[in-house]
Amino acid sequence: MMEQTMGKRLILLGAPGSGKGTWSKIISDGKGLPHIATGDLFRAELAAETPLGRKVKSFMDHGALVPDELTILLVEKALSDERAANGFVLDGFPRTIPQAEALTEFLEKCGQTIDMVINLIVDESGLIERTLSRLVCIKCGQPYNTMNMMPAVEGTCDYCGGDVVQRSDDTEETLRKRLEAYHASTAPLIDYYKERDLLVAFINDRPPNEEMRSRLFSMIDGVKGEA
Ligand code: ADP
Ligand code: ZN
Repeated sequence: MMEQTMGKRLILLGAPGSGKGTWSKIISDGKGLPHIATGDLFRAELAAETPLGRKVKSFMDHGALVPDELTILLVEKALSDERAANGFVLDGFPRTIPQAEALTEFLEKCGQTIDMVINLIVDESGLIERTLSRLVCIKCGQPYNTMNMMPAVEGTCDYCGGDVVQRSDDTEETLRKRLEAYHASTAPLIDYYKERDLLVAFINDRPPNEEMRSRLFSMIDGVKGEA
């Protein structure tokens, strides 16, 4: 069942492996909002070996953040697409205060604002081990997990038939670096959005189920959004 949620502009915030990709997809499918994931956009540039892809490769390989200027340009391009004109789910952006400020400014210029920031809360003990078991569709970005969310046909995406693989940056070493980057650069966004009265917490301590889904959708429906 697809429901059009006009004007909802949502951000999913959370540590690597906290379930941003999984929940963004659920919201995107359920609410008819485009899913904009910077990690997926960068991986597509890498796969196509574009000049941008070549520039971001070493950052991603090492679990470091891509520089703000490159990331902001990429997102502004995605947000300028008419498909994003009536709302979106941002996944993996912003990840730094300068990115958040650039986003606020960009939306302001278009007479728009963010409606809600969903902070995914997970227990970080064991996060690295859990994240090492995840897989992703290289074509559409759908996340899977060898522990509890396998595709029906091994190695093939249920949704688009793309190849389902382990991400090359999902190694213990890069995950440690990404967690460090999260705490140093991304966690400050919790206060940034709290101060702007946009933050809601969502405890993501188990695989997605219907109860969690309807609770999250009620929170989203509760924010006003623009017509
Ligand atoms: P995860 O949330 O599991 O760490 P993502 O797919 O969101 O994975 O991101 C993968 C990589 O892409 C990051 O480690 C980083 O190198 C790069 N990246 C994605 N989004 C951003 C961003 N907003 N700013 C800087 N780098 C980013
Ligand atoms: Zn797919």
